Amino acid sequence: MSLYPWLEPAAARLRAAREAGRLPAALLIHEAPGVGGMQLAIHAAQLLFCSDITPACGRCSHCRRITQGEHPDFIVVVPDPELKLGQITVDQVRAISAQLTLSSYEGKGTVVVFQPADRLNRNAANALLKTLEEPRPDAHVVLVTTAPSLLPATIRSRCQKLAVAAPDRATAVAWLSTQKPAHKADWAAVLDVLGVAPVEALAADVRQILGIRADVLQLLNDARQGRIDVIRIAESWARDELPLRLRGIENCLTGQILAMRPGARLQDGPLDINIGPALRLLDDLRELQRQLATSLNKPLALERHLWQLNRAGGA
Ligand SMILES: [Zn+2]
Repeated sequence: MSLYPWLEPAAARLRAAREAGRLPAALLIHEAPGVGGMQLAIHAAQLLFCSDITPACGRCSHCRRITQGEHPDFIVVVPDPELKLGQITVDQVRAISAQLTLSSYEGKGTVVVFQPADRLNRNAANALLKTLEEPRPDAHVVLVTTAPSLLPATIRSRCQKLAVAAPDRATAVAWLSTQKPAHKADWAAVLDVLGVAPVEALAADVRQILGIRADVLQLLNDARQGRIDVIRIAESWARDELPLRLRGIENCLTGQILAMRPGARLQDGPLDINIGPALRLLDDLRELQRQLATSLNKPLALERHLWQLNRAGGA
């Protein structure tokens, strides 16, 4: 497995730490959304377990089993699929802690990855803290997250941090075009919706994303004329890929704001609006995304936001 090119600087730091015998007992990988930070957790495990002269060779039995998720000493903990809110629970953490009181299966240590680590609920985070406070010498905990601020400070302070930024947009489009040349003409539009999230874009259903982009642009255009069909849109969007659609609005707005000079209006984009109202819309959108994570009445929360968008577009 070759690393995504934009992960290489972070991977080099891991290799240097490994050579110095200082691969951290607790590592926090802070990744930009959709850039494949999980690969660094895999890389760290390969650096530890690999039996080749050049560690993380990718070919030996250890490296291959880690990549395939079949190595008994490489454990990946993801949110409990039974839970609606998608949390990592205290029972999951306790099971790991119990396992870490035993020695590793193959004698080279244990790597436990939590992904996304920001889904650890409060009790789970407390349980994990105990494990981090009394680590088994050859155990390594890796937390992968796009939102480290959602983790308790007590956990963050125990971790060594490794930040991974997204590549620039042109690099992401070029990389995607070499991975799937058939969609060469589509990748820029896909990133309009997803943001610069190349790994996520590569796995996405391109046709679906392009459909969502068309809907988002239509909505912004309608907002400009103050004629969003609020009730119809709220009902249909709430049923179909709502988080992705809101992310599309967010990324389209952000892209326009970044391209603007101060004091200019967003006339060149789909939404004719001043930068102040555009920034307020973004704030409001993020608040809506937070509400929707817990809200029972998604159409109502969405309706409220669409009315605001309708007013701001004509402002
Ligand atoms: Zn190897």
